[in-house]
Amino acid sequence: MRVQSPSMRERTKNVLATFSERSSPHSRNQRTAALKGPLTMSAPSKPSQRLKIALAPGDGIGPEIMDAALALFKEAGVHNHVDFVPTEMGRVVFDKGNTRGITDESVRIVEDCGVVFKGPMETPKGGGGKSVNVTLRKLFSTYANFRVFKTLPGVQTVYSKAGINLDFSIVRENIEDTYGGVEHRLSNDMIQCKRLISAPGCDQIHRFTFHTARKLGIKKVFCGHKANIMKMTDGLFLDRFKAAAKDFPEIEIGDVIVDALCMNLVIKPQQYQMIVLPNLQGDIVSDLAAGLVGGLGFAPSANIGKNISIFEAVHGTAPDIAGKGLANPTALILSGLMMLRHIGLLKQAATIENALLSALESGLHTGDFGDPALPGYTKEPANTNQFVRGIVEKLGEKPKTVTPAEVPEQSTPTFETSPRPEGQTMIRTFVNIVSHVVGCDIYLDSPLSPPAVAEEMMRASQDTPFKLSLISNRGTQVWPTGSVYTECVDYYRVRFELREGNLPGTIGQSRAVALMDKIAEKFTICSYELLRIFDGVRGYSMAQGQ
Ligand code: NAP
Repeated sequence: MRVQSPSMRERTKNVLATFSERSSPHSRNQRTAALKGPLTMSAPSKPSQRLKIALAPGDGIGPEIMDAALALFKEAGVHNHVDFVPTEMGRVVFDKGNTRGITDESVRIVEDCGVVFKGPMETPKGGGGKSVNVTLRKLFSTYANFRVFKTLPGVQTVYSKAGINLDFSIVRENIEDTYGGVEHRLSNDMIQCKRLISAPGCDQIHRFTFHTARKLGIKKVFCGHKANIMKMTDGLFLDRFKAAAKDFPEIEIGDVIVDALCMNLVIKPQQYQMIVLPNLQGDIVSDLAAGLVGGLGFAPSANIGKNISIFEAVHGTAPDIAGKGLANPTALILSGLMMLRHIGLLKQAATIENALLSALESGLHTGDFGDPALPGYTKEPANTNQFVRGIVEKLGEKPKTVTPAEVPEQSTPTFETSPRPEGQTMIRTFVNIVSHVVGCDIYLDSPLSPPAVAEEMMRASQDTPFKLSLISNRGTQVWPTGSVYTECVDYYRVRFELREGNLPGTIGQSRAVALMDKIAEKFTICSYELLRIFDGVRGYSMAQGQ
């Protein structure tokens, strides 16, 4: 049986033990409260303040693993403090024709509870239905997706076999990026997805990351990005990372291009403790990370916002095993432990965690994992219910091969919901910036050749303050210079900039709109972007090859 090194054991404990301190501003008194009261789980805790948690079992394997997790929580006394309030979201709502995937009543329940325990939900394929998982994160501004990846006893991986313990977390920005889902068909052949990255959105996620790192005693935080290519969007994400780091001088920072990060994670994952990433990159990299610690069955996550937080496993509905009672509920249980700590139920969380670790190290396993070297390993895997019963039997025990979680003598919920705001909040980073119009990019649906488009554009703009400065196709300049080998599609960007003698600030937006109107007499205009300078700095990218 493999025993973890003390330093790794200590860090493993810390990640789970301190998460709630970071995430719940209301857990300040919990530590003191935890030092009083009876020692054993069996002592009935007197129901005190009862807390409401919105419950969404989900689709596919969701209801099975949620039932299992709740049965375990009930045995550990969680239900003495918490009422789980059922909500309607996911497939059942889509099937009624609601393309948002959540009812108005459920939105209100979530807003009132402030905490959601959620199973995976299916995203309808095709049609208008968007992912309700993404909708929930965005609707309730849970801007930080915190995902923990650590080696667990009994879960064999390439690294555990090599004696390498992994223990790191990924903070994924949860609202912005291509997950805005702003997509349009622009021509016969071109479809666009807008990538939105805002300065306050970056600031929120980076401050969350550094605060969490500080609480967990993490010494170095990496920012993953692709700022070498997406100089403005990922460039902003990286710049704001460096700006936020200034308030956390004790934490070293590093940045890594996301493709190199993927390679590093496979070759030497133990070099990372915490990585913050934009939404899409964070989504992809965190599934890779789940693979390093044994698969999606072991990856918990917390979606943390200022007022509302959602706790769910990283995995989806696993339709291939849904309804068979075979699913591994570990990731959902671990997500639930994050939730219990978030609301202040530290004793219950530590007790369940110890029981889970004890069960895993004894060899208990579902079909997706297992270590035949362990004493209680059986060739026939446990089904979901048997697995949870095995954990329940271990309640009150402590693991022997990994550091147990510290069990406080008593704990009661300390989470309080914030007062309901009267309207949406505006979040700002840069307020006093002076911007001036210096041109516009107009996007055309046209099958003409670049020289033919150029001729038409020069004619349209001849009596305006703007001159045609470039034409690009799929981001590559094709006029005035370029290569005849550049293949073009039926969608062009034509860029107009102020003619000499027209100073920034002297020409307003309406002149650019008038130019667009003129071009619209002959061409289909797909979209239009103003070119502006902000405090004298160019607010738009150059074309490839410009
Ligand atoms: P997935 O549901 O995560 O499943 C991928 C595979 O991972 C499954 O086929 C299964 O593999 C294994 N797996 C995942 N969770 C498991 C568990 N708890 N126990 C045992 N095995 C598990 O990914 P997907 O098939 O790409 O997505 C299915 C649906 O879920 C889609 O509609 C997707 O949009 C949605 N989804 C929802 C969420 C969410 O709610 N947050 C997240 C991701 C995806 P085997 O073949 O080995 O059984």
